[in-house]
Amino acid sequence: MIWNPHYESMEREKLTKIQSDRLCELVDRVYRKVPFYRKRMKEMGVSPAGINGIADIVKLPFLTKDDMREVYPFKLLAVDPIDIVEVHTSSGTTGKPVVDAYTRQDISIWSEAMARTLAMCDTTRTDSVHNAYGYGLFTGGLGVHYGARLIGANVIPISGGNTSRQLAILQDFKSTILTCTPSYSLYLAEAGREQGIDFKKLSLRVGLFGAEPWSEGMRKEIEAKLYLKALDIYGLTEIIGPGVASECEYQDGLHICEDLFYPEIIDPKTGEVLPDGKEGELVITTLTKQGTPVLRYRTRDITYLNHETCRCGRTAVRMHRLLGRTDDMLIIRGVNVFPSQIEEVLLRIEGVEPHYQLIIDRQEQLDILEVRVEMNEQLFSDEIKNLERFESEISQGLYAALGIHTRVKLVEPKTIPRSEGKAKRVIDKRQL
Ligand SMILES: [Zn+2]
Repeated sequence: MIWNPHYESMEREKLTKIQSDRLCELVDRVYRKVPFYRKRMKEMGVSPAGINGIADIVKLPFLTKDDMREVYPFKLLAVDPIDIVEVHTSSGTTGKPVVDAYTRQDISIWSEAMARTLAMCDTTRTDSVHNAYGYGLFTGGLGVHYGARLIGANVIPISGGNTSRQLAILQDFKSTILTCTPSYSLYLAEAGREQGIDFKKLSLRVGLFGAEPWSEGMRKEIEAKLYLKALDIYGLTEIIGPGVASECEYQDGLHICEDLFYPEIIDPKTGEVLPDGKEGELVITTLTKQGTPVLRYRTRDITYLNHETCRCGRTAVRMHRLLGRTDDMLIIRGVNVFPSQIEEVLLRIEGVEPHYQLIIDRQEQLDILEVRVEMNEQLFSDEIKNLERFESEISQGLYAALGIHTRVKLVEPKTIPRSEGKAKRVIDKRQL
């Protein structure tokens, strides 16, 4: 089902016209109302008169994560503060949080974008959405909530945590759709198995998972353990929260709501815009946002675009599932390594649980990457020589994928910390 066929399946020419009109209006508005943008545009020698269509977007300045901290809390505000009806922030674990301030119209656009996301898996009024994303300042919980409400589905606002209650409610309320982080879904599966719950007997048919990068291997694990179809969703506080892009039933790239959020892929080093199929950093402009509009935000997420019409009938451009982040790229002995590459290798190997941790240390000027891998119970009780063979199979797989040697350390079942939100998988102990 396509929630809004008018926009999601629009002819390219018409869509470009809408994007152009919206960009011109946006630039004119932020130039007048947001001193931060006016100053940046003047520095680049560009004014609203020089922006005549979406192709001119390349003349505009980028906005970075550091800029977002500089404008904390409300320096991007483009409306009278009285028109703000809701505020969300990022977690702020690595500095000042990013603030997103919404007008009434921004909330209705967010609801629309999330209704499109939920409709990708045919959510209707007959569905019950078990929403285990956190409610609060984090955008995940309320984003899903608003979309489900717009569709008229029954939303169960359970939020994060309290896993045994989650499991009881999943059974008793016969929820059909699960929304949470991919790592939490696996934790639910594991805790459920321990309580003797047969996931095959639950009513869940689809899960919408996002807020952290996850691999195809992880998808297979989730689908096999929870007996549902796992779809990837994408969003970020800087832009609106969840609802920026989502996979349809074909699981072949995430459709971006590009009438609302204009995507570009750039070379992270030069800032040059790259064509379809070329990997680079995703940059997004909010074409309709009123409260805190964002011009060319550098997401640090690495992906590529595909403008071909999808089998589902949507023409909306697709972004490939995240290949990594420019900021969680690890540089180990001069080689670029993404945690997602490691995950992909691990989950191809029989006997590995989808829980792992990467510990990076420096010994005598040399970087050491230790990959802690959790065994399943069966393997754990196996003979030492089999464990050694297993360890070397993992090392060889990692060497083939990364081109560097790693230290593989097998750990007992259930020793890697579980997370009820985003998983912490990388511990970098290097003193740089
Ligand atoms: Zn599609």
